[in-house]
This record gives sequence, C-alpha cells and structure tokens, in this order.
Amino acid sequence: MHNVETFRDLQREATEWRRYLHENPELDYQVHNTARFVTEKLASFGINHIETGIAETGIVALIQGEGGEGPTIGLRADMDALPILEASNKPWSSKIPGKMHACGHDGHTAMLLGAAKYLAGTRKFKGSVALIFQPAEEGALGGLRMVQEGIMDRFNISQVFGMHNAPGMEVGKFGIRHGPMLASLDEFDLIVKGRGGHAAKPNETIDPVVIAAQIIMGLQTIVSRKANPIESLVISVTKLKAADAFNIIPDEVEMTGTVRTHEPSLRDFAETHILSVAQGIARGFGGDAELDYRRHDPVTFNHMEETTLAIKAARNLVGSAAVDDNIKPRMGSEDFAYMLEARPGAFIFLGNGPTAGVHHPAYDFNDEALPFGIGYWVNLVETTLAT
Ligand SMILES: [Zn+2]
Ligand SMILES: [Zn+2]
Repeated sequence: MHNVETFRDLQREATEWRRYLHENPELDYQVHNTARFVTEKLASFGINHIETGIAETGIVALIQGEGGEGPTIGLRADMDALPILEASNKPWSSKIPGKMHACGHDGHTAMLLGAAKYLAGTRKFKGSVALIFQPAEEGALGGLRMVQEGIMDRFNISQVFGMHNAPGMEVGKFGIRHGPMLASLDEFDLIVKGRGGHAAKPNETIDPVVIAAQIIMGLQTIVSRKANPIESLVISVTKLKAADAFNIIPDEVEMTGTVRTHEPSLRDFAETHILSVAQGIARGFGGDAELDYRRHDPVTFNHMEETTLAIKAARNLVGSAAVDDNIKPRMGSEDFAYMLEARPGAFIFLGNGPTAGVHHPAYDFNDEALPFGIGYWVNLVETTLAT
C-alpha cells in the first residue's frame, strides 16, 4: 500500500496533462481531441489493448496484472466540459470562449491517466483493470450509452468505481458512504389547460395561470404532507410559460420542473402524486392537466463490499482521520449511476480545497489533489486485485 509521496513525480506530469486538457475543453460527445490525447498517452505507457469509439468518443483500455488469473475491475473517468465562459483568470484558462472544464473532468481524466501509467509500469495485481474514459457526463447520458454498448460484458468487468472532486472539502481528504451518495434526476412537463380570453373579462375564461399558481403550491405538499419525512425528496418547478402579452389570459400554461430523491421508489410516487394533485386542482376549477414525466439518472448507489474496499484504499493512502466514511448524501446526480446499476461498485469524493463550486465560471480543478486521486486508484486496484 502506498502513501501519497509515491505519486509526487506523477503529479508533475499529470499537472501538465490536466492544464492542457483545461485549455482545450470539448462538450458532450464531441470530445475528439481529448479522446485522441488520452489514447496517445495510454499507448505511450505500453498499454496495447485500447478500444476507441465506444459511445462515439469513449475509450476502454485494459491493463493485465502480472499476478495471474483474476477478475477485471473498471475505473471510470469523465472527459467532457461545460458551455460556460471561464472566469478563473488562471494562466491555463480555456482557449475556447464559452466552453470550460467547470466540473473538473480534466482533473478526473488526468488522474486516471496517472494511475494508468503507474499500473502499466508495475502490474502488481492479479486479473485486469479496465480504464473507462466516458464522454457526455453532463446531461447527455454518455455513461448509459457506454453500458448500452456492452462494455461491462465485453470487457468482463465485475465491479466499477468512480470518483469526483469536491470543492469545499480539504485536499487530501475523501468522503464516501454506503448506500445512496447522490440523487436520481427526473424531469417533468405539466400542461395546465383552461380557456383563454381578454384579461379584463376573467369571468368569461378558465384562467390557467391562477390554476398553475395553485398547482405549484399544491406540489410542495407532496413533499411536506405525502412523502415520508425521513426520506429525501425534492420537487422544484423551474420554468413557466403563459401568455405573451399582459392583457391576454392564455388557453394553457406550460410548467417544467425536476424531481430528486435518494429513494428509488419515490420516483414512481412523485409521478403519481404530481399528476393527481395537478389534475385534482385543475379539474376543481373547470380546467385539466397533463403530465409528461421523464426519468434520467438513477440514484448513485454505493454497494456494500465495494464501498468497504474504497474506504480501505483511501485510508491506506491518507490515514483513517482523512476519510469520512459516512458523509451526508447529496441531491446532485451523476450518470456513473448507470454503471452502478449494471455492476456493483462505489463512487467517492476527493477534496478539491476552497475553490469555487463546480459549474461556476471561477472554478478550477486543484492540481494539488492529483496525487491523491492517482494514489486512490492505485491502492484500490492493489487492494481489490491483491495477489
Ligand atoms: Zn458537472
Ligand atoms: Zn462532474
């Protein structure tokens, strides 16, 4: 087992990679240059089993250990950036206005490359490691597509692990928990139907704006009065479209919103109750409501055995006091959740120090965190695939 000092030389190299990736951000599935950079680096480490073009620009590379037969475990990094104009004022700021690595996926990619270089050079493990570099984590389901294109079966992956940097957590610290880590993400559209007319004659209309206002308040009672208070549920209405003029009562109001929870059964629960509350209120006023409910990321759920392995790997790197193994779950979401639905595994947070939050224009991945992320991956492999 290694402490972080083992990875100081790699830190210097990984910092160069990270800053190059930061200067050259790419979005969604269009991470062509990033994927080419990753592929070239992997080949230069002597890794000869590299498959590209999975989910358009995703990569899976295999490193075989020298410790004999054993299972294959998957380590995943994401490669995509965000459509944000950077304001970090760093010398390595984005060269592409309107695109930036505001979620630290540049750091995630650099850390997995660092671990790949170390593991390909030492190979002190049994079985194999599958390095998974995915595109399109930010809302375009790259993780799901890689699963759908069969990477788990094709590479015989038995367990998967993911990592995300966490601004506000000290560099050198890790946070994880058994069970739900991040929430599911669903989206809904509600159409509230009334009968439009002149705003001066509301008595001749069925005003869907007033009905929508009641529905918005009513939806909050699903959380406060219907759901079990011990279980977490968020329902937010975030977008409203009514008439285009001040003196018109529209026929319809369109509402959009999102549902987040750590309890998978609450997704069905939310769908059922959003529809019944909206229809009940709308019909009471002579109107009606239609719901379109769409499920996106599942709950990011950490499995028992793999979470214990992740905690052990992190503790061996930084000591027990620097690993919080019972952090509070968060309401954000991650498309790594699809990989955790396909195989047991664990997702861990890595301290990024007092930087701006992710998705903020002033955010920057903290290069001091690189050797901790690299060391975690290496320890995890040497723990899970111990010879
Ligand atoms: Zn993000
Ligand atoms: Zn992210």
